[in-house]
Amino acid sequence: MSKQDICSLNYEEIQEEMKRIGEKAFRGRQIYEWLHVKLADDFSQMTNLSKSLREKLEAHYEIPKLYVAAHQISRKDPTEKFLFELSDGNMIESVLMKYEYGNSVCISSQAGCRMGCRFCASTIGGLKRNLATSEMLRQIYQVQKISGERVSNIVIMGTGEPLDNYENFVKFLHMISDEHGLHISQRSITASTCGIVPKMHELAEEGLQITLALSLHGSSQEKRRELMPVANKYALPKVLEACDHYFEKTGRRVTFEYSLVKGVNDREEDIRGLTGILRHRNCHLNLIPVNPVRERDYQRPTSENALEFKNKLEKNGINVTIRRERGSDIDGACGQLRRRYAAGNKGETDETICND
Ligand code: SAH
Repeated sequence: MSKQDICSLNYEEIQEEMKRIGEKAFRGRQIYEWLHVKLADDFSQMTNLSKSLREKLEAHYEIPKLYVAAHQISRKDPTEKFLFELSDGNMIESVLMKYEYGNSVCISSQAGCRMGCRFCASTIGGLKRNLATSEMLRQIYQVQKISGERVSNIVIMGTGEPLDNYENFVKFLHMISDEHGLHISQRSITASTCGIVPKMHELAEEGLQITLALSLHGSSQEKRRELMPVANKYALPKVLEACDHYFEKTGRRVTFEYSLVKGVNDREEDIRGLTGILRHRNCHLNLIPVNPVRERDYQRPTSENALEFKNKLEKNGINVTIRRERGSDIDGACGQLRRRYAAGNKGETDETICND
């Protein structure tokens, strides 16, 4: 019989669970603090619990392990990339980016992805499985412990589609912002979706304060379909309606992401299309010059062309930025480090500082 994942139980559930096994509710509160504040990864560390309770916990519950398979520190900018191996051998990536205003961690929501976006490395091997709530939480805990840096911002933009793992993802949002845990402000959390319309509507009604980012990538239904198979299921007008619903319900301005691909979506007609979509919306557009992926032949525009694209949009009244590139020397783009491992092309050592 497999053990229950104790780290995915929220503050109320863990107290109920302790009562169910004949313990006092406050034991649950103590364990919650060990797991989600002191970031323990083993029951033996929980020294204010009796030895017999620790043995009982050990026998019936597990704290999902995230083994560090690789840890790369960029030489170019304050960015660190982590490749974690899960208990079942699946691999996931997380990235720590240090900024003047605080530290941001980018986490994965699934092992692999089934969305099939043409330019993305994370989807090449398909979906392996959803991550448990604990596996999302523990990416942040591990990064914080290993780097010794306090995390203040979270972006769910690693491997996977968070809205394709909806329940675990929403529970993660509640637990990471819970005052009994790390208590990270929901306003400092951004989740990115390729546009799963029904789940976007559901998220709008959750009463959360996170920022929603929509992967737009094309300014027409046809162009989106060319780049993102999910557009075959959810047409652009419906996706935009769901963004508007999210803004109306939460008051949180939606971010639109747009991976700029040379000759594909960086043309004059794309500027016109984007302007038409975004001019009347209270939103922000983030341009991401595409990170060329080994298995794909998409190219990024030159930085001059990307800047020109941005300036033209700005002139049209669009609130737009170009995403600052981070960690390009450490397989910074989504899923690239994981792919490298999948290809059996492992680094020499577990801890690498990249020379470039
Ligand atoms: N499933 C979510 C999270 C994906 S990763 C989503 O689709 O939004 C976050 C962003 O990076 C998405 O906008 C994604 O489309 C983009 N992205 C993925 N691979 C990329 C690449 N090689 N170059 C540039 N952007 C990429």
